[in-house]
Amino acid sequence: MTHLQGIAASSGIAIAKVYPLEAPDLSYSKEKVEQPETEVERLHQALEVSKSELEKIKEHTKKSLGDEHAEIFSAHLLVLSDPELIKPIEDKIKTENVNAEAALDETANMFIDLFKNMDNEYMRERAADIQDVTKRVMAQLLNVTFPDPALINEEVVIVADDLTPSDTAQLNKQFVKGFTTDIGGRTSHSAIMARSLEIPAVVGTKNITSQSEKDSMIIVDGISGDVIVNPTDEQIEEYKQKQADFEKQKQEWAKLKDEPTVTSEGDHVELVANIGTPDDVEGVLENGGEGVGLYRTEFLYMGKSQLPTEEEQFDAYSSVLKQMGDKPVVVRTLDIGGDKELSYLDLPDEMNPFLGYRAIRLCLERDDIFRVQLRALLRASVHGNLKIMFPMIATLDEFRQAKALLDEEKENLVKEGHQVSDDIEVGMMVEIPATAVIARQFAKEVDFFSIGTNDLIQYTMAADRMNERVSYLYQPYNPAILNLINNVIEAAHAEGKWAGMCGEMAGDEIAIPILLGLGLDEFSMSATSILPARTQIRDLSKKEMASYKEEILSMGTAEEVVEFVKEKTQSK
Ligand code: PEP
Ligand code: MG
Repeated sequence: MTHLQGIAASSGIAIAKVYPLEAPDLSYSKEKVEQPETEVERLHQALEVSKSELEKIKEHTKKSLGDEHAEIFSAHLLVLSDPELIKPIEDKIKTENVNAEAALDETANMFIDLFKNMDNEYMRERAADIQDVTKRVMAQLLNVTFPDPALINEEVVIVADDLTPSDTAQLNKQFVKGFTTDIGGRTSHSAIMARSLEIPAVVGTKNITSQSEKDSMIIVDGISGDVIVNPTDEQIEEYKQKQADFEKQKQEWAKLKDEPTVTSEGDHVELVANIGTPDDVEGVLENGGEGVGLYRTEFLYMGKSQLPTEEEQFDAYSSVLKQMGDKPVVVRTLDIGGDKELSYLDLPDEMNPFLGYRAIRLCLERDDIFRVQLRALLRASVHGNLKIMFPMIATLDEFRQAKALLDEEKENLVKEGHQVSDDIEVGMMVEIPATAVIARQFAKEVDFFSIGTNDLIQYTMAADRMNERVSYLYQPYNPAILNLINNVIEAAHAEGKWAGMCGEMAGDEIAIPILLGLGLDEFSMSATSILPARTQIRDLSKKEMASYKEEILSMGTAEEVVEFVKEKTQSK
């Protein structure tokens, strides 16, 4: 039995066999061959097997995530059948008498280098496709397993160094009972997605990959952060009981599904949800969400081989708005960068991607991409209660520029004869400390704020949200963070605007009483956190929590804050 402690990232308990998801070793040696025909034969076999794997993945993705996400695999399948790639590989084998591995690698690299450097987006996307596909074929040639989360067909717990958001999107809930990783934090996007998929997860265990083997039993406790490899029979029984208790607790919470979110004295606060795709709306409604406080639109752009068209985006946004009826839906414009990559944009590697070319910075420069999104949003606005917000705003100038583009596109659409709602609130995320410090100046120009604490904490504390080594500094309850939040809420209210929070902190049991006392108007969280939060808020007095405001804000450490809040709310 091995016990590891990680960071609880998505609640629930998983007990199943380990499925290691690691990058395969694709190293090979270049060899001279006597019989090139045999190598050509091997190449074709590897291509065929890869094609049938890709077909299966495509089908699975289509079912679980929809046509648009499956499209990337159609592009990959095309590459595998493209004579302009295959023929030169065969020629190389025959003319140079080299093994299939060397011919594949060298030819593919030649095309990748060529396409990557072209001044043509379409060709750069092809370079990314070739790169992905050749890895799969190479794994076939070398007879090493190429892990495919989408192909898993028995109950497992995924064990990986890290999972990308697109790996996470491919997980099939029917078989993947949970996951655990070496690195990552509670606010890495794979953790956030695990919560919307309701898959138990523990991240940042530091060394689960070296401490577990394929097929050994593993327990992942996404409530406490414990991970147990090769548990004893007693431990399995104990955790089965915990699993049953958790299910019972969920049923208790579910009783509040259609109840309003009110404090003990009857004050209403808005409890809304964070979503990544239109499919997540079902979970929001099942969990009694009063709206969507953050729709992370970048997932529409990820796991694909090209930018989504205006029509595709219009469909996705309209679908969310229609499903939510008259409930508010806050859509965040594209926030790519950081831990969310778009291979087809071929952005250069950066030393500090979280401080780099991302989100609104990229959108203002690539307004060709941005305008398409704005048009799709504006057109969809007639289908519901849409609010738009811009991510990663650092300066007033950025907000003004983004808003001006929105106004311009609105004018264009109206001229073209489209209908656009007249009633769209336009706000910004407060994720960069600079904006929290002078929130008052921003409050004059925005319709609302949504505080993105996932980033605000990492920038204020200078502690990477993905890095478990510095996770001790990632302190939501640090008085520095609380003072910034207070500043934002006060600024909003002084200008007659509302302030919400869509960072993970909004659903946190210790943070909720504090935020209530600071006067936060809207709490946006993973759908599964809504009912526990509603249960908690019904027992809290806003007035009482507000009376502790000054005392909490003048504390020196996060520990003091936590102790104080626990003491004041313990008996409730
Ligand atoms: C945040 O930074 O708090 C946020 C909600 O945005 P994301 O987690 O997508 O960066
Ligand atoms: Mg953010």
